Amino acid sequence: MNLFVVDGLVKRFGALLATDDVSLDVAMGEIHALIGPNGAGKSTLVNLISGLLAPDAGRIVLDGRELTGRPMEARIRAGLSRCFQITSIFPEATVLQNLLLAVQAAHPGSLRLFGRADAALHGQAVALAERVGLASALDRVAGVLPHGAQRQLDVALALAPRPKLLLLDEPMAGMGPEDSARMTELIRSLRTDMAILLIEHDMKAVFALADRITVLVYGRVLVSGTVDAIRNDERVQAVYLGTETVETAA
Ligand code: ADP
Ligand code: MG
Repeated sequence: MNLFVVDGLVKRFGALLATDDVSLDVAMGEIHALIGPNGAGKSTLVNLISGLLAPDAGRIVLDGRELTGRPMEARIRAGLSRCFQITSIFPEATVLQNLLLAVQAAHPGSLRLFGRADAALHGQAVALAERVGLASALDRVAGVLPHGAQRQLDVALALAPRPKLLLLDEPMAGMGPEDSARMTELIRSLRTDMAILLIEHDMKAVFALADRITVLVYGRVLVSGTVDAIRNDERVQAVYLGTETVETAA
């Protein structure tokens, strides 16, 4: 059984079909990349999945649980987590404080048991920092961290609720090659205990990470398949011609 299933999703903005009967699935431990030119409907799909937008038709199922129509909090409890790209970081707070807040939010009620619970939460916050490579930056103010480190922190915050499916919306955006390579390794390391839906423009990262790729164009799935199948697909190359060359990123 697939861990995550999107089935026949439709979203209209007036006359525009931003999501046109989109179906895809992600297995446990799989990295499934979603690519497509600007305006293809990638962000709309992410917003439908995370619950920011309501679909006009279709279903979203995670680990056998229907998420369609459920509020965002319920989706997070069901195991869905989304990387919000910096906006979820409190810039004035330290890395540790940010992580503690995220861990507390993921365990409502734990504050009541002071002493022991505090130590447990602290341990989880530190473990998250270690997991994303920020162990040496715990006491640094988040807002003044370099861009790449802020993105690493953002991933750590998304990991706090222990997601079954992690949604990553352009985690490499604005990164140079060094940060991008580090983020690629970080994402690769996460797959052992979750499924990942990765929306990313950086084709080098997509080809390096993805098990399968779904290509969206004008709100529709153009094609879905393995990295090799997508890289060699003439329709995909035609879509990217003149914008991003699939060839050179390979
Ligand atoms: P992508 O993330 O692939 O660049 P988007 O999902 O942002 O694509 O947009 C898909 C299409 O839907 C675009 O034509 C965009 O202009 C339109 N769109 C996105 N959000 C809205 C909205 N809230 N209201 C109206 N049109 C929207
Ligand atoms: Mg977008």
